[in-house]
Amino acid sequence: MEFSLDLNDEQTELRDWVHGFARDVLRPAGAEWDAREETPWPVIKEAAKVGLYGFEFLANAWSDPSGLSMPIANEELFWGDAGLAMSIFGTSLAVAAIFGSGTPDQLAEWVPPCFGDESAPALGAFCSTEPEAGSDVGAIRTRAVYDQATDEWVLNGQKAYATNGGIAAVHVVTASVDPALGSRGQAAFVVPPGSKGLSSPRKLAKLGLRASHTADVFLDDVRVPGRCLLGGRDALDARLAKARNNERAAGQASMRTFELSRPTVGAQALGVARAAYEYSLDYARTRVQFGRPIVENQAIAFALADMRMEIDAARMLVWRAAWMGRNNRPFAAGEGSMSKLKAGEVAVAVTEKAVQILGGAGYLREHPVERWYRDAKIYTIFEGTSEIQRLVIARAISGHQIR
Ligand SMILES: Cc1cc2nc3c(=O)[nH]c(=O)nc-3n(C[C@H](O)[C@H](O)[C@H](O)COP(=O)(O)OP(=O)(O)OC[C@H]3O[C@@H](n4cnc5c(N)ncnc54)[C@H](O)[C@@H]3O)c2cc1C
Repeated sequence: MEFSLDLNDEQTELRDWVHGFARDVLRPAGAEWDAREETPWPVIKEAAKVGLYGFEFLANAWSDPSGLSMPIANEELFWGDAGLAMSIFGTSLAVAAIFGSGTPDQLAEWVPPCFGDESAPALGAFCSTEPEAGSDVGAIRTRAVYDQATDEWVLNGQKAYATNGGIAAVHVVTASVDPALGSRGQAAFVVPPGSKGLSSPRKLAKLGLRASHTADVFLDDVRVPGRCLLGGRDALDARLAKARNNERAAGQASMRTFELSRPTVGAQALGVARAAYEYSLDYARTRVQFGRPIVENQAIAFALADMRMEIDAARMLVWRAAWMGRNNRPFAAGEGSMSKLKAGEVAVAVTEKAVQILGGAGYLREHPVERWYRDAKIYTIFEGTSEIQRLVIARAISGHQIR
């Protein structure tokens, strides 16, 4: 499909609908749930009720041939409030893993319990990071061993910082089936609701995204049925055989998967940045010092001009990467990484400027910019840090194994 900046009717409708929800439900509730640091079940229920939380919503957004629906929806949702939006959107990490690696039968079996239903919504968690394996995903120590006698996989290990970890109905866990192969010897497993041996002691206290639940997850002899291996046994065996023969395909495929999800994360950062930009622009127009609105000082107006320019530039990178991913273009220069890197760094810079433009008011909890400033920082850290994004781009453009 041709790339176009003109949103079609469906995209405009989607944007306005999600924006309305973000404005009416998320924005007014953001400060309260940030302070409570609890999972906002009533908000998740509301999202489920209107059809914003569920597989149909994701499937519709994913099916847009331009690729733009997903970033458009994410930007609007996270414009409302990032902590609440992550509580709604966190499940999609697990769903994306099932969708990306699972068979149609696995999709049908495991996606519905990730969401529950309107009256009793549930959550999904994607657990990859470990205490010793953050940026270095190849260092994962969680082991999956097949027990032929019972046709079960036995999982042992510890996962770190999992969004919805421990409170999710469905956990998707990455584990090593052949440690000698590093990241190419890994597979993803569904841990069904109520599985024995999975525990999570507590929600972790964070700088931002405080409504969103983040927790360590422990796997102690967790037995899952053989059918919980995403993609199935034959696909795994074929992949491992390729890796053992040192064929590149497996590694390249997982790199592309990461690149595909990055524009969506970039769009979330954009939402936070745009919220702070709009708020500080309004404030600068009305706050009077020295007998005139502070926006009439170039120092303030130029800062706002830069904020707007950077947000627009980041959106172009996000939309380009989203379009490329959906239209099977190769990410020859790490364009997925570029989009997330730029948007994450813009979110941090723009929210910092917004606090500055509000002066003392910006530092107080009476205004949301201090929260957005805290929320924005996650976007240079999760789903690959800024340094790792630079590494991907540098390797792609140079062809060298930069360290
Ligand atoms: C709120 C939150 C939610 C999260 N949700 C999830 C989730 O749902 N599922 C999940 O699996 N994970 C999740 N994570 C984990 C997240 O993806 C990791 O924190 C992230 O990948 C970084 O890993 P790390 O924290 O171990 O940092 P490290 O890898 O230890 O990095 C520390 C620093 O060293 C730098 N560094 C490391 N290697 C290099 C290198 N080769 N070159 C240059 N610099 C380098 C990094 O950029 C960083 O600045 C979440 C984290 C947070 C904070």
